[in-house]
Amino acid sequence: MILKTTAIPLACYPYSSTSRIVHWLTRHQGKVSTLLKGALRPHSPFRGEYALFSTSELLYFTQRTGTLHTGKECALLHPRPAFRRNWRAMQSASCITALFNKTTPEEAPCPELFELFEELLDLAEEYGHSFSFLGWAELRFCAHHGHAPQLANCTLCGAAESLAFSVASGGTVCTSCSKEKKLATLSSPPDILAILRSWQQADQPTGAVKTQLTAQQKNQIVDLVGRFMRYHFNSVEYYPTLNLM
Ligand SMILES: [Zn+2]
Repeated sequence: MILKTTAIPLACYPYSSTSRIVHWLTRHQGKVSTLLKGALRPHSPFRGEYALFSTSELLYFTQRTGTLHTGKECALLHPRPAFRRNWRAMQSASCITALFNKTTPEEAPCPELFELFEELLDLAEEYGHSFSFLGWAELRFCAHHGHAPQLANCTLCGAAESLAFSVASGGTVCTSCSKEKKLATLSSPPDILAILRSWQQADQPTGAVKTQLTAQQKNQIVDLVGRFMRYHFNSVEYYPTLNLM
């Protein structure tokens, strides 16, 4: 069977001296893997028609057995050229792509997830150079998956005072609950929790990217959000690149 779908590469690997394997997030089929035969030959029809962070239309033959399909054609629809000019924005796009690649199961259709990926890449072109963008994007990702950290109250008793972040509890817990349940908490100064709350409530990153942060605040946000992402999404260590920003 031949399928046509909109798709964005998640990762590309060499398969032979002339062919490539490309993992894609597609709008209609979820995450799929294709072999692009001859993709590295000078006159290949695939050349220039797909790229990381870019949206293409993909035609491929599905395999009856196995999950490596055969690419037939692709056509570049939306190249997102800003990532060629702005390495910091490209770094944010790389982190977002790695996050989707590591956390999306194969062949599980989810058009909403594809739309979120497209939206975050579009926003990364404009705002991805900012340190705060990726934190905002990760909170959006958490909300999409139903794992938005609860940051305004204790997740156990609802108290709004003396809060500290507990990764395993899915957000903040109060001092008495953390003592009673012997919960491990992270250093969570009120200013950091307030910043994350404001990012979480914003539909767009326009406010988040204007947040003025000290080096200490940046480190605390990287630590707190990074631990949360690793715990809830089992994601890999892609976050430390942010320290460069
Ligand atoms: Zn409590």
